[in-house]
Amino acid sequence: MQLSRRVQSLKPSSTLAIAARAKALKAQGVDILSFSAGEPDFDTPEPIKQAAIDALHAGMTRYVPVPGDPETRAVLAHKLTSENNLPGLTADHVIISAGGKHSLYLVMQALLEAAPPGQPPAEVILPTPAWVSYPPQVQLAGARLVEIETNAASRFKITPDQLAAAITENSRLLILNSPSNPTGVMYTPDELRALAKVVAEAAVSKAPDLVVVSDELYEKIIYSGIEHLSFGAIPEVAHRTITINGLSKAYAMTGWRIGYAAMPGEFGASLCKAVARLQSQMNSHITSFCLPAIRTAVLECSDYVEQMRLAFAKRAELITSRMAELPGMQAAKPDGAFYVFPDVSAHFGKRSKAGAPINSASDFAAALIDEAHVAVVPGEDFLGPGPRCLRFSFACSEEDINRGMTRLGEFLDSLT
Ligand code: GLU
Repeated sequence: MQLSRRVQSLKPSSTLAIAARAKALKAQGVDILSFSAGEPDFDTPEPIKQAAIDALHAGMTRYVPVPGDPETRAVLAHKLTSENNLPGLTADHVIISAGGKHSLYLVMQALLEAAPPGQPPAEVILPTPAWVSYPPQVQLAGARLVEIETNAASRFKITPDQLAAAITENSRLLILNSPSNPTGVMYTPDELRALAKVVAEAAVSKAPDLVVVSDELYEKIIYSGIEHLSFGAIPEVAHRTITINGLSKAYAMTGWRIGYAAMPGEFGASLCKAVARLQSQMNSHITSFCLPAIRTAVLECSDYVEQMRLAFAKRAELITSRMAELPGMQAAKPDGAFYVFPDVSAHFGKRSKAGAPINSASDFAAALIDEAHVAVVPGEDFLGPGPRCLRFSFACSEEDINRGMTRLGEFLDSLT
């Protein structure tokens, strides 16, 4: 018996794998400090929970429309129009799926395919380091990944020249993620406008089918003062940009699995219909009684979001200042999200107290969890400079951050 080639070569999500390992060790009684998954430690705000409970009690337990009910999609369309300045969105331009990850997967399946024999594959341009699930999703869609590697010196941002050089006649997708997972850095509005200009020019000269996926999952968690500009709000690219968002991070709703994709115009409506066809053959729709909870979150919970943002801002300050005191933990200061991505390669070539060689980010992360009980995600699967880096998610308490940094310091001191 054989598994398909598609799954044989598929890696599991490393963020979820490390988070599961940290949880399993905690369940065994090990005092693990987890900086692994990007999962807010806050509880979902009470009014959101109540909306789902009320919907359950009202009998909302049956099938609902595949893309989500029109009322909820209209609320999301209104949010995207009024807050994000996306032009001309209606409920028909929005589709709700089981998490931002699912939205991204479906969009890639709807836009990409393996090339017929003898023809060049569709290319997906991805600035790296990038979130671990984009490359496998590109692979599953049969397309070719084109990395634009960045580094800490450029604050992990691509330049217009780098983008222009990466675009070819085969470019079908450009993925942008600001604020970024795993670095927390953001593009300024001017930087995004400069990238949009390159996309618009390339669309005329050589890549007419180029679409931009703007993953804006962290738009509500920004603390450096940079203004969040939705790529789809820039007129030259508005009609070739898909905005991806979800409720997991901003509203502390990771387990609910709620994401959405939106794109204006005629093509946007066709894309949403195509994604709905895929979804109808897959999981039909999201859990019915979550739909009213989406409306409550978006319409009534901005105060909760602000409280969490302020907490993340304090934690960002704390973790970066504690990390800066440690040797060989160079990190770009995040603008948003809840990640910091230090380069730890200064420690490669050393050995841990228990004798484990530290020659890679994975070695470092393995020794750190085994010997110091601090869980982090090794950078390899984020690509680009990732193999020299570790991702710390600071969606945990200030106390855990302090204890974690103390343990990290002791671990570094013990390396020989
Ligand atoms: N997006 C979060 C992270 O990067 C949750 C896990 C996942 O979906 O990768 O940690």
